[in-house]
Amino acid sequence: MIYLDNHATTPIDSEVLRTMFPYLTDQYANPNSAHAFGLTAREAVEQARTSIAKVINAKPEQIHFTSGASESNNTVLKGLWFKRQKSTAQLLIFTSIIEHPSILNTAKYLCEFDPNTKHVKINVDALGALSDFELTSGLVCSIHAANNEIGTTYDLGAIGSKCKSVGIPFHTDVTQAIGKIKIDVEAQNITSLSFSAHKLNGPKGIGVLYLRDPDLICPLIHGGLQEHIRSGTLNVPGIVGVAHALKLTAAFDWEQIGKLRDRLLELIQNEIPDIVVNGSMINRLPNNLNISIPGVKAEILIKGMSDVIVSSGAACKSGNTQISDVLLAIGSKHPECAIRFGLGKNNTIEDIEYAAGRIISIVKSIRTNGRK
Ligand code: PMP
Repeated sequence: MIYLDNHATTPIDSEVLRTMFPYLTDQYANPNSAHAFGLTAREAVEQARTSIAKVINAKPEQIHFTSGASESNNTVLKGLWFKRQKSTAQLLIFTSIIEHPSILNTAKYLCEFDPNTKHVKINVDALGALSDFELTSGLVCSIHAANNEIGTTYDLGAIGSKCKSVGIPFHTDVTQAIGKIKIDVEAQNITSLSFSAHKLNGPKGIGVLYLRDPDLICPLIHGGLQEHIRSGTLNVPGIVGVAHALKLTAAFDWEQIGKLRDRLLELIQNEIPDIVVNGSMINRLPNNLNISIPGVKAEILIKGMSDVIVSSGAACKSGNTQISDVLLAIGSKHPECAIRFGLGKNNTIEDIEYAAGRIISIVKSIRTNGRK
């Protein structure tokens, strides 16, 4: 089986698993216990914080742990809102129209909850780039570092400067981008940032939240005072795992994966010249490719290839194929025919050649047999 769905999740790296193992077995102490046993776990947590902070040019105390990017995104939007709810000014939430649902649906929820909160959705062009937008002060401006479907990347430095000039906090969801593109919270004026370990060959159920200043938000999870932002016993194996996964991802040669991605496109394009690339080939994650194959429904193609794992640009819900909002936002003419490839660290040129061959042969057979 060739796995090309690394935007959905990634396999855990064996080296990451090895670093976690002691904390799942012998070193099981609660890091908040005052005894020496607890102290060893605490040290591992603090080392992880330092290691993550280094990758994004933050301070260790600005790094917080959550269950994943969804929780980190919710914590920022709702946490900022709780802090400002008594404000008489209108609370504006600026986001791109193609953010992850953990941003879009949280903003929607807050607006439904409070008539004084307004969601300003910034449009994107045919390549997924942000259209010109006017920014004012408000609750938050949340723009992801890269889109999870079409891989479009954003100029965080430019957005950060714009936010700074009007005095609005800048939140960025870097789940798909961290380790692949440069993130520097200082140089890019980032107020808060979120990601999940399982997109980086780390474990599931652990996420990171960078907060420039924890007092900007109200915590969502109240309890003991182990951590300022999120109470609860720390997930030490997960914390050790996410730190190591990030270290490995940041040191990895993603340019080489970009070359494999380009080769995949070339091989498919040579045989199926009418494919449409969704998104930009310039401002794009190195491991992403999203193409529409006119006349060939993604659902049929994906089901026909059990040995090559890709996903459709459209999410399926309870058997109904829902057209991707991201593809609709960029004005795709063939959203139901879009497939997304997410290459991973372990993919080889042989994987790419095999996958291209399978796609080409299935597409030709679908087109010959007239199945649409
Ligand atoms: N943001 C982005 C850009 C994502 O791709 C995802 C996962 N698809 C998330 C947030 C949410 O991550 P998780 O499911 O790990 O909470």
